[in-house]
Formats: sequence, structure tokens, C-alpha cells
Amino acid sequence: MARLQPVRGTHDILGEKAIRFRTIFEIFKNVAERYSHQEIDTPIFEFTETFKRTLGDTSDVVTKEMYTFEDRGGEQITLRPEYTAGIARAFISNGLQQSTPCKFYSFGPIFRYERPQKGRMRQFHQMDLEILGVEEPQADIEVLAVAADFLNDLGIGKHITLELNSLGDPESRSDYRDALVHYFTGHKGKLSEDSLKRLEKNPMRILDSKDDGDRELIKDAPRIADFYNQSTKDFFKMVIDGVEALDIKYVINDRLVRGLDYYCHTAFEFTTDQLGAQGTVLAGGRYDGLMEMMGGPKTAGIGWAAGMERLAELIADDLLIKQNRPVVVTPVGAEAQIPAMKLAHDLRVAGIVVDMAYKGNVGKRMKRANKQNASFAVLLGEEEMARGVAMVKNLDQGSQEEVSLSQISDYLKGKG
Ligand code: ATP
Ligand code: MG
Repeated sequence: MARLQPVRGTHDILGEKAIRFRTIFEIFKNVAERYSHQEIDTPIFEFTETFKRTLGDTSDVVTKEMYTFEDRGGEQITLRPEYTAGIARAFISNGLQQSTPCKFYSFGPIFRYERPQKGRMRQFHQMDLEILGVEEPQADIEVLAVAADFLNDLGIGKHITLELNSLGDPESRSDYRDALVHYFTGHKGKLSEDSLKRLEKNPMRILDSKDDGDRELIKDAPRIADFYNQSTKDFFKMVIDGVEALDIKYVINDRLVRGLDYYCHTAFEFTTDQLGAQGTVLAGGRYDGLMEMMGGPKTAGIGWAAGMERLAELIADDLLIKQNRPVVVTPVGAEAQIPAMKLAHDLRVAGIVVDMAYKGNVGKRMKRANKQNASFAVLLGEEEMARGVAMVKNLDQGSQEEVSLSQISDYLKGKG
């Protein structure tokens, strides 16, 4: 027998939660479009290579979290574990290097095989924003501004801190990398197994380790700011000047690295203390090396992703999109059934939200109308039909009046 529960770490989205998601998405879309971003929708699965090559063999996502399977044609397929690689793939596939800069936004499900807990699911949803083809720090400032505006429009800006770091240009990174390898090699015996692997392949990722022993060692590890060359310093200063000019509050966190391997220069996270352990609501950075790594033309990129489920926990109820209260059409007597359906249809075509109770006597149907929080009930019986009218009850005031069928949609719109 089928197990009639959702798979662990997945959730149905219905009722108020669906309204929360829609509210947040609408606000995101508005902000993104204000910054002249265009919607993009990439497939929720790609060839496994697309993610494997780009995310790097040391990232948690690739090593532990991907939903990968072989399809019936023998292709290795992976369910989207993040947006950037798929969007970069789409940029290359569609030959968009001719039309840079490209400014995109997207929203949809993301799949990661994680240990489910509060704020951490196996299917969750991200809003994603990317700028492709801009090397200048203006793009960094702009994506940070979109993020800050978005969180402010959600009414949660004051509970959230922007943590900002620079991971440096390739030269600074490489010097820093050497220093980290030197330091951690000296403490090899105390490193976790995962971090030992990272030490060879991508030592910066050790800084992102959640292992307690690793965290102890990280405290005294070399700091990236000491390895910035002049061009990294200039770039980062410009970003900070921009962020300050736009009055976006931030703190520098020089231990912040991103979980994925392709980042450089600006890295950032917007975090809150209101969600317990999973406090990062939005995170991103610059990934100038990604496109080449995928075999495409050298193209700069920067972007971020925000977790829908975590944001949905934070927004206030009064922000939620209000759904129009329905008008309920109620036939009185068997003869009125079809004419009532016709009336309901006419009102719907006129743009009014209409529901019907499908069975029961008038009393039962009126009860249902109240339960649906209907604003008006429109009663149609044989006697009214003969005179070309219907009885319109105002359910808030308890009043009622007869309205001619030809006037009824204007009447309801006027009152609605
Ligand atoms: P973490 O360190 O918490 O695992 P991450 O670096 O894996 O985060 P990103 O890849 O940057 O996260 O994803 C961007 C955002 O998506 C996160 O800040 C978070 O809000 C959300 N997110 C990431 N993983 C999950 C998940 N498993 N369930 C729900 N939301 C998630
Ligand atoms: Mg993660």
C-alpha cells in the first residue's frame, strides 16, 4: 500500500502558507522588476554535470545533498539544488553573451538531501536574483540594494543584519589559500574528516565547517583581509562606499565564505536572530569564474538566493495579500438551479468573486456562505426569476434588497 504521507523533508503548501508564499513572491517580483530584472524559468532538472562541475567536489551540496538519478534513457539527472548553475547554463545555451548585461530573477523549488529540521527541508523554495556580464562593483552594490529593499518591503529589515566579506580576486585568494593550507596542515590531527578533504581541494571551505573541533581551530586561522592585494582592496572599498551611500546597514564578517566553490570578491549573508539555528534568509556573492568553468565564455556574475520558507516565518500577518470575499449565489427551489448557475457565471465574467453552495436547503447554504466569509448572498427563486430580479442580502449588515438581474453586477461592484 502506498504511504500516504509526504516524503520526509517535503511539505504541502496550502491555506495561509500559500498566501504567505504568494505575498512574498509578489513583493520580490515587484522589487526585482523595479531594478529592471527579467523573469527566467529554467528546468527543475539538469544534467548532473551542470551542478557537479560548477559547485565543486568539496561542497556539501555536491558531496552529500544532490538528488541524482539515472533516467530511462540512461542520462544522469539532478534535481535543481541551487539556481546559479542552471541560469549560467541557460546563458550559455541561449547564446546570451551578445546581450549582456543580463539581469534575471526566478522563483521555484530547490532539492537538497539534508537532515530535515526547522528551517531546513529537502524540497524548499528560493527566490533568486542574478546579474551576468558586469565586472564592476556597481553590480555588487545593486544586488545588495535589491536584497535590502526586498527585506524592507517585507517589513523585516530591522530584524536582519547584512554580513559582508570579500573573498578577494584570484591572486589574493591564492595567497590566502596557501596560508590556510600551511596553518591547517600544522593542525591536521584535529581536523574533521570532511575538512581534511577540503584541505586538499578547497581549504577556504573549512571556514564554513559546522564541526565544533574545526570551529575551535578556525578561531586562530589566518584572516583573509591580511591577504588582500590593491585591486581587491579597491574593489571592496567601492562596494562598501556604495552600500554606505545607499544607507544599507552592514557588518564585516571576514570568516564568511560561501558553501559553493565558484565565488570571488563580494560574499554576503542576511541573517536574523529570530529563527533559531537556521538564521540565514538570503545569501549570495560574486562568481566571475563560473561561466568559464562550465566551458562558456568568460563572463562575470553576481547574485543571491533567498529562502522562501524562512521568510514566510518572519513576515507579519497584516502584510498578507487579502483575498476578495466571495458573493454566494443561492438558488431557492429546484427550478432555480440552472438560472442561478447562469447568474453566477455572468457575475464571474464581470470580475466578481462568486461561490455557490452546491446542495442543501436555503438555510444550509446560507450557513456555508457565512462560513466562507461571504460579503453578500444573492438568492434567486422562481418568483424573483419571473420578475427579473434577485434578493441581495448584505451579510455584514443583515439588510436585504431586491435588485434587477441586469443591474446586479454593477450593484455588487459598487458595494464591494
Ligand atoms: P546553510 O549553511 O544554512 O546550509 P547554504 O549556504 O546551504 O545555507 P544557500 O545555498 O546560500 O544556503 O541558500 C540560500 C538560502 O536558501 C539560505 O540562506 C536559506 O534561506 C535557504 N535554504 C538553504 N537550504 C535550505 C533548506 N534545506 N531548507 C530551507 N531553506 C534553505
Ligand atoms: Mg546548506
